[in-house]
Amino acid sequence: MAGMFDLVVAGSGIAGSSAALTGARLGLKTLCLAGDVLGGQLLSINKIDGYPGFPEGVAGYDLCPMTQEQAVAAGAEITATSLDRLDPERGHWRLATNEGDLQARGIVLATGATLRELGVPGEERFKGKGVSHCASCDAPLLRGKPVVVIGAGDSACQEALTLAEAASRVTLLCRGQELRAQQVYRDEVMRKANIDIRFHHVVAEILGDGGVTAVRAGDTASGETAEIEAAGVFVYVGLQPATSYLGDAIVLAGDGRIPTDSALRTSLTGVAAAGAVRSGWAGRAAAAAGDGAAAAIAIARYLRNDDWPSQAPRLG
Ligand SMILES: Cc1cc2nc3c(=O)[nH]c(=O)nc-3n(C[C@H](O)[C@H](O)[C@H](O)COP(=O)(O)OP(=O)(O)OC[C@H]3O[C@@H](n4cnc5c(N)ncnc54)[C@H](O)[C@@H]3O)c2cc1C
Repeated sequence: MAGMFDLVVAGSGIAGSSAALTGARLGLKTLCLAGDVLGGQLLSINKIDGYPGFPEGVAGYDLCPMTQEQAVAAGAEITATSLDRLDPERGHWRLATNEGDLQARGIVLATGATLRELGVPGEERFKGKGVSHCASCDAPLLRGKPVVVIGAGDSACQEALTLAEAASRVTLLCRGQELRAQQVYRDEVMRKANIDIRFHHVVAEILGDGGVTAVRAGDTASGETAEIEAAGVFVYVGLQPATSYLGDAIVLAGDGRIPTDSALRTSLTGVAAAGAVRSGWAGRAAAAAGDGAAAAIAIARYLRNDDWPSQAPRLG
């Protein structure tokens, strides 16, 4: 793995795989650092909706390996390694990883995001014992049992629908007074007989013994508190961008993501960002894939023409 690469991509989600594929196809010596989850967030999604070319949806465990295999076939290398730090050197970047250092002339940061935690008592204790972020992984274990899903956006609704196929009842707890998901998910969730949507509900505690048995939630409209029976609790309350390896190298946007220009170039010379880690990302997998391709093209142009915004400090 050691040595000098034209392009190092950090992250192997759909943005990173697409960047690695595009970089390799452009003839760049390309290495993709996969991080902890080869495939990223999509890997565990039962049915990825709205991805071009798959009118019936596609499973993450089908799509993710396909994109990685395509990148490798084009000439990219993928390694199960994480980026820990990047530092400028004369004319290139030095990257520290958990497997040692390497050098890159250009970088695409595609480290995505992880699902946020609720931060209530019981959440940490019952992680893996009923508290989960992965409906498709745990639905078969919860057949015929009641579950609670927390959140009001696309992920919460989509995962509630996956769980409703197995669970006896899905209680969807939303803090606000409406679902924020796409209309297609809102309609489906409303139609599903075994999904019970409760607005104005804030979870105070996850209860259990050996595993989860219930959540305690307050109704902010009525002021009442209730225990809702649940053998599983699924949390979809937003995303935490993965940027800790940057230290203070880049000033992040207000949403904690990496700012880029319209060509996906960051404030660091030769470093582009793509997908869920960049500010202004459009939120869907197709957008992340497009970002990955555009970011790799930005790096190829930079390597060919030294084309980078003039206010970014030059490398060496
Ligand atoms: C429950 C749920 C359901 C969804 N369903 C859909 C859907 O049906 N349709 C749709 O279009 N979108 C869907 N999305 C959104 C979709 O998952 C994202 O758009 C997409 O995964 C973003 O891709 P990404 O590559 O930017 O980031 P991620 O998928 O988050 O990938 C990030 C990658 O970076 C790696 N990484 C992290 N830190 C480091 C590091 N320091 N060094 C190296 N690698 C690192 C991780 O291991 C991972 O490989 C869903 C999201 C969720 C949460």
